[in-house]
Amino acid sequence: MTITSRSESTIFVFDEYVQSSIGLKEFIENSQKALETQYLKEVKADYDTEQLERRLVLHSSLEMHASEIYTEEMFKRFQKELMKSTCYIVNSVKNNGTYMSKLYLVEKVTLPENCSRKYRVTVFMYEKIEYSCKKFEHSGMICKHIIRYLDKKQKIKIPESVIMGR
Ligand SMILES: [Zn+2]
Repeated sequence: MTITSRSESTIFVFDEYVQSSIGLKEFIENSQKALETQYLKEVKADYDTEQLERRLVLHSSLEMHASEIYTEEMFKRFQKELMKSTCYIVNSVKNNGTYMSKLYLVEKVTLPENCSRKYRVTVFMYEKIEYSCKKFEHSGMICKHIIRYLDKKQKIKIPESVIMGR
């Protein structure tokens, strides 16, 4: 018995259950079993996606990446920083004296101009990042300033240099 007009994955599933030289009744039973298995796999995949979607707050690529690399607790801490990062702005500083690095100032927009503290994020060639708040060194968690910078640069992944234990 050959199944021609099916997708490769379906053929694979049928192969698991359909051996050669079996009776028609058995074939139908096995086919049903294969379809049920396929159905359950799809239900599980849908469920997993739904669970992930529910955990995300901004649904950005960075957050998606964070959910893949962090433990549950670390991911919750990341989300707090992510939410805080949304009230910051990033400005690049022109002519900061070196062609090896680029300087950015990250400041909170919800504060009056004279109260706002500016944080420096310096990005060196080869993606090495330095930042003035040093949160990552102290807590192992990427800070809102870098998250804001990464977001502005439309980065879709958290750089290895600011992931603990890498
Ligand atoms: Zn910071």
